[in-house]
Amino acid sequence: MDCRLGCGACCIAPSITSPIPGMPDGKPAGVRCVQLDENNLCKIFGQPERPLLCARFVATVDVCGDSDEEAFWLITNLEADTQV
Ligand code: SF4
Ligand code: SF4
Repeated sequence: MDCRLGCGACCIAPSITSPIPGMPDGKPAGVRCVQLDENNLCKIFGQPERPLLCARFVATVDVCGDSDEEAFWLITNLEADTQV
């Protein structure tokens, strides 16, 4: 599937452990990435400082669902299931 541009769920719901410009320790789950702009687009898309994890993330129906709300819910649940 193609990413629903402007969704932003994968930049808010999950925790990211690698450094992000402006968030040197990464970000906790549920916290909006500081690089997400007001249109829910990544301000550093395609730039080398964008975390590799973000660059590798691919939109799939399993994770992104059919709506932005569903994506947020699915990713939040995935995050909770993968906590140790
Ligand atoms: S959760 Fe999926 S649809 Fe939403 S921004 Fe991320 S990749 Fe795109
Ligand atoms: S760096 Fe960009 S793609 Fe990665 S979480 Fe932040 S806004 Fe999203």
